[in-house]
Amino acid sequence: MATPSAPTIDLESLRQSFSGRLLNDAADLEPFVVDWRRRYFGRALAVAMPDSVDDVAAVVRWCAGHRVAVVPQGGNTGLAGAATPDGGGRSIVLSLARLKRVRAVDAVNNSITVEAGCTLAEVRAAAEAAGRLFPLSLPSEGSCTIGGNLSTNAGASRCCATAMRASCARGWKW
Ligand SMILES: Cc1cc2nc3c(=O)[nH]c(=O)nc-3n(C[C@H](O)[C@H](O)[C@H](O)COP(=O)(O)OP(=O)(O)OC[C@H]3O[C@@H](n4cnc5c(N)ncnc54)[C@H](O)[C@@H]3O)c2cc1C
Repeated sequence: MATPSAPTIDLESLRQSFSGRLLNDAADLEPFVVDWRRRYFGRALAVAMPDSVDDVAAVVRWCAGHRVAVVPQGGNTGLAGAATPDGGGRSIVLSLARLKRVRAVDAVNNSITVEAGCTLAEVRAAAEAAGRLFPLSLPSEGSCTIGGNLSTNAGASRCCATAMRASCARGWKW
């Protein structure tokens, strides 16, 4: 007996559910479905690039409602293939690249509030402009994002004795 084919996904309803960009042209998808070292190649229905935290929630809600897997992606510099969708072609890559605001720098409290898609270099520069040091530093800091740093618990010699989540993060909001 033939296996029933997967139901067609109506991407137009996804496009209308949030503010931001939705890429579904094969050429546009290419950089998002391969990892930094070009070791893992995947497929995706589309790349959603929301403009706000509420739009992130809207994309996730749509994906849950349509039983579509979500693959969050920041700078795509991870070396373990975790930001690359699988080969099934039924995932949405959720790119945080447009969430780039530094919301607050509090020099008295030694804290900074940033959106997930800020690169590590942007966060370090914002801290430095306030006369403070953001201690995490990675060779990939021009591309990797703070959301990816938290997710991977990235760490290096300048991140105190431990890694990102333990030493630098006071909290995060989804
Ligand atoms: C040249 C080079 C040097 C590096 N040096 C180091 C090093 O010294 N130390 C080190 O620890 N790592 C290093 N890395 C690895 C990499 O840069 C880090 O793991 C970085 O934290 C990944 O961030 P990203 O934004 O690129 O995440 P991505 O690669 O986009 O994603 C990595 C993982 O995080 C998830 N993710 C991303 N953003 C979010 C989000 N907003 N919310 C939830 N999940 C999310 C993804 O789904 C995936 O599972 C290096 C990489 C390169 C290319």
